Amino acid sequence: MAQLSLKRAFLMSLFSRVSSAFRIPPPKRKLRPVERMELHVTHACNLTCESCSHYSNHGHRGNLDLERADRWMKAWSDRIAVEEFYLLGGEPTIHPHLSEFVILVRQHWPAAHIRIVTNGFFLYRHPDLPSTLASDGNADLALSIHHDGADYAERLRPILDLVAIWQRDHGTTVHTWQSHQGWTRRYIGFGATMLPFEDGRPRQSWEICPAKHCTQLYDGKLWKCPPLAYLRLQKAKYDLSEKWDPYLRYRPLDQACTDSELDKFFALEDEPACSMCSAERRRHPLPSPLPRPAQARTSTISRTPLIIRPEASTAGALDSLGAK
Ligand code: SF4
Ligand code: SF4
Repeated sequence: MAQLSLKRAFLMSLFSRVSSAFRIPPPKRKLRPVERMELHVTHACNLTCESCSHYSNHGHRGNLDLERADRWMKAWSDRIAVEEFYLLGGEPTIHPHLSEFVILVRQHWPAAHIRIVTNGFFLYRHPDLPSTLASDGNADLALSIHHDGADYAERLRPILDLVAIWQRDHGTTVHTWQSHQGWTRRYIGFGATMLPFEDGRPRQSWEICPAKHCTQLYDGKLWKCPPLAYLRLQKAKYDLSEKWDPYLRYRPLDQACTDSELDKFFALEDEPACSMCSAERRRHPLPSPLPRPAQARTSTISRTPLIIRPEASTAGALDSLGAK
């Protein structure tokens, strides 16, 4: 009997040594493909586009620090394969370390296409950006144009000159997007008097929604869209009507979710929260989003020291847009 036990122990130890010598790593978790993920690198914006779906026309502040962004991305990058990652805000060029966000996203999502969505007015503060985009090889700029007035066009001229230089010298890909042309009202009013639409047809609201595939990575969690993600910023700043309470109760997806909850989150189309948005495309006259002179004079954002600046007159024209 004792001999049998010894033999069994020997065989077991042999098996254990052989299997550890040829240990096969556990299979990698299958990544769930996600069309698009967006990150506010700052909540601040230098423009005030009426009915901005990110509420960035309401003077919010706050730059995201890289360490925090790294933690947020780490929580999802082994579960999700992002196809397009958008760095925006607010106006992302207000963040002094914008280029480092490109590098950070690339560490987490090696195959994602990275896009910076900008109104362009502070691109000149980021002379390292074109070389960062070039070395990445799968990243570009989307220059969003927010008004068709002569004043706006005049202020835009030096920006177009700058991106033309980046295109020529660094091969930067720049997509110019006349965003004012498709502008619709996202909510009624402004600030404390802001109200949801509540047309009572959430399916129709979702079907025409321009933000329906714009998942937000915010506070380490996944949010269905910008209006739901940043509504709490509005609540913290304004005494909002109680009509917003049901939408403020929206629960984002936490990183502790199961795989089936993750699948459910991305499969969900309209939901009751979509009632806050209009069920019809409500176009409206878009006032110029350029800051008024008083706003420019009371600017409080510190200017990042520049290594290369455009011509002094151009830089002056850009700076006069007054970051908030
Ligand atoms: S530039 Fe963009 S983020 Fe800023 S207010 Fe206009 S739409 Fe909103
Ligand atoms: S709540 Fe629904 S309809 Fe409104 S922006 Fe978000 S996804 Fe679109």
